[in-house]
Amino acid sequence: MSWPVTMYYCTACDFEQGDWVTWGTREYVLNSGVRIPVHWHIGWCASCNGIVAVENLSMKIRMQDYRAAQRELSKFSRSMFGVSKHHKSMMGRLEDDSNNAIDALEMLMARKNPPHCLLCLSKQVHELNDPQLDDEAPDSPCIFNASNQHAGESKLKQKDNGQHWQHPECAGQIKTKLADGGLRIALRPSIQRFTAEGLLIDKEFVDGNSIPDSEYYDALSKSNWKYRAQSQVKEVGHPSLITSFLRARCS
Ligand SMILES: [Zn+2]
Ligand SMILES: [Zn+2]
Repeated sequence: MSWPVTMYYCTACDFEQGDWVTWGTREYVLNSGVRIPVHWHIGWCASCNGIVAVENLSMKIRMQDYRAAQRELSKFSRSMFGVSKHHKSMMGRLEDDSNNAIDALEMLMARKNPPHCLLCLSKQVHELNDPQLDDEAPDSPCIFNASNQHAGESKLKQKDNGQHWQHPECAGQIKTKLADGGLRIALRPSIQRFTAEGLLIDKEFVDGNSIPDSEYYDALSKSNWKYRAQSQVKEVGHPSLITSFLRARCS
């Protein structure tokens, strides 16, 4: 599978850049061994001198993820009379999303580093000024969780929608357009892994067609369940602050 390329260009200078630099799948590896998706948004990196994917450390988005997963889970549990394989798999994915959100909130509460550029890891990053992107899920084939792993392409197709940003240190505006000739790029799927503080651990190429295949996400889910079971054994009697908070607010 290939992805359409969106070009960023400046209305006042010759700045032009393809958006593929923001593509890819990224995970945080927590101290417990659990791996959760990196949330990111479009930003400007002074070190790369271009548009990059920047870590998005918003707790609000993770809280929204948690609530969305809980809402869907409660709908499922109300509507289920017989448990089919499909239902079980959907419930498992939603539970993963919910647990990922809780772990992300805990990670963010302890996080010391400011956001990094996910290309060069510089901290010299800032958001590009566009209210449309505030607190939105990212919009490229960067995959966040198993339940929305195919969301990237449809979003990309809508991308030439008049978004624009101020080009830093330039009088022009950065706008987007689809690449000439309908250029599409196929990616060799890879996972970049980061510590909870945003430092790069490794990059692994995996099976899949531009994005990791479903077996990757099944294995990730199993691995996370194993690590979470281990950490819950340690947590018994001492639930973490965030878990207690969410249980109290959302039960
Ligand atoms: Zn410019
Ligand atoms: Zn950079």
